[in-house]
Amino acid sequence: MRLKVAKFGGSSLADARQFKKVKDILLGDKKRVIAVPSAPGKRFSDDIKITDMLIGCIKLKKNGQDFKALFEDIKKRFYDIKNELSLDIDIDDELEAIYRNMKKPISDDFIKSRGEYLSGILLASYLDWKFVDPENVIIFKDKNTLDIEKTYRNIKNASNNCKIVLPGYFGSDEDGSIITFSRGGSDITGALAAAAINADVYENWTDVSGFYMADPRIIKNAAHIQELSYEELRELSYMGAGVLHENAIFPVRALGIPINIKNTNRPQDEGTYIVTADKLKKHEFLITGIAGKCGFSVINIKKTSMNSELGFGRKILTVLENNNISFEHMPTGIDTISLIVADEYLTDLKDIIISEIKKSVDPDSIEIQSDLALIATCGHGMIHHLGTAAKLFTALAKSKINVKMIDQGSSELNIIVGIEKKDYKKAIRAIYKSFVN
Ligand code: ASP
Repeated sequence: MRLKVAKFGGSSLADARQFKKVKDILLGDKKRVIAVPSAPGKRFSDDIKITDMLIGCIKLKKNGQDFKALFEDIKKRFYDIKNELSLDIDIDDELEAIYRNMKKPISDDFIKSRGEYLSGILLASYLDWKFVDPENVIIFKDKNTLDIEKTYRNIKNASNNCKIVLPGYFGSDEDGSIITFSRGGSDITGALAAAAINADVYENWTDVSGFYMADPRIIKNAAHIQELSYEELRELSYMGAGVLHENAIFPVRALGIPINIKNTNRPQDEGTYIVTADKLKKHEFLITGIAGKCGFSVINIKKTSMNSELGFGRKILTVLENNNISFEHMPTGIDTISLIVADEYLTDLKDIIISEIKKSVDPDSIEIQSDLALIATCGHGMIHHLGTAAKLFTALAKSKINVKMIDQGSSELNIIVGIEKKDYKKAIRAIYKSFVN
């Protein structure tokens, strides 16, 4: 029997009521053998996630302030879950030990990881499954590099012949120091677990029924996406359609394990499947989805015959590199080159960048324009269809939206346009209308 790994996000474990739903889901299919919980998330819109509360403790500690009251609030969240589920488990000692450690000079990662750790202890007790501490199985070579082979071997051994709860978001290095992934990293733990046991499917349970063709906050009743390729998912997630951590894709993609995004509050919904491109069923529409992000600047540089000047691009990129700025796109013409960078990089550096580029390539003109938004229209179907770009630009022109930048990656999986931030929603609506309805 091929098996399933089910990862549950913070909203799926926010309180006892959500824990009950998670239990029903896990016991509802005996192929679900590994559960990967996040830390309890928000119970209502202005609630605070446990991970953010722990980060709050770190900040107070760094400022030399007392974090006891905040830690008491964290404790209460876990006690409420335990009591409402009538769990016969003692967490007093665990909480005491965590508090004691937090007062010592201990790493931030240790503190940040305790939400998942405690969530896992409660879930394991509630399900009567084995609790597996990620500290002993998810092994890092250093802060940024996993020991994949060891990690897979450990997960496989730990889950051999039994059902386990493996908390998300962290592991440890060879010396036993806790290391966390970046925020949202429980998705990565789930993907590693699915790859380790070569699961049939990696289920990622959250509070939406998968992906929509455009942000439902902008397009009411946006069409649901049943299937996406891993590549389309990467393009859409990178451009802001954030349901899944982008690094969660690699472990499962390597083995062709599909990811199924599911809704804990509507388990009957199919959700969205993420599969290899060759397994993709034909989409109803020419495009798969539209996603976008605000907060970019464009550095426009003009110099006659720039394209024949050796080293021109390198010199400009060296200026960015020396100032620790990474760029997102670099469309070029014969006499022009544009660099798109996130606004935040330029806040204090605009004048420095302009003067260094002037010194290094002596351009005819250089200007920086901020408040740009990028919109990606994406899908495998676009490659084979003539006139996709024409359709896109006609839609934007008809809505009187001025396109400042165009970039079509060599994968031909998407067309990215840069427009003014004020036109962002209007542009998404215009593109959606012309391709979908
Ligand atoms: N709890 C962590 C966060 O809030 C990790 C996760 O939920 O995936 O980022």
